[in-house]
Amino acid sequence: MKKLGELFQSADWKTEKHTPMIEAPAAVKPGEAFEIKVLVGKEIAHPNTTEHHIRWIQVFFKPDDDKFSYQLASAEFTAHGEAVAGANQGPVFTDPVVLVKAKLTKPGTIYALSYCNIHGLWENAQPISVG
Ligand code: FE
Repeated sequence: MKKLGELFQSADWKTEKHTPMIEAPAAVKPGEAFEIKVLVGKEIAHPNTTEHHIRWIQVFFKPDDDKFSYQLASAEFTAHGEAVAGANQGPVFTDPVVLVKAKLTKPGTIYALSYCNIHGLWENAQPISVG
């Protein structure tokens, strides 16, 4: 039986429209607020329809010297054109973008996870130094 972590896809991240892209500084000062933006479909748009869409993004931080990881954000995107008139006839479509403001005291790795309702789990990671 595969562990859940083995189900996350990340291959071909440069051209893959599912992988969550992390926009964050490579280095920050201790305790100084900075922004982490995570989005899917920056270069190649992912479909956003009632039948096929990105449903959620989660963001985590794992300090280099810590055994545990910490959740920074969890965002659900819940409008994809649903309406009484039918699929894709609704007035609103939410796009998968998350903005988190954070402060760090230790260096580590930012992890971003995303979920496509028909193509499953995706992940990305980016180191961040503090000093
Ligand atoms: Fe998909």
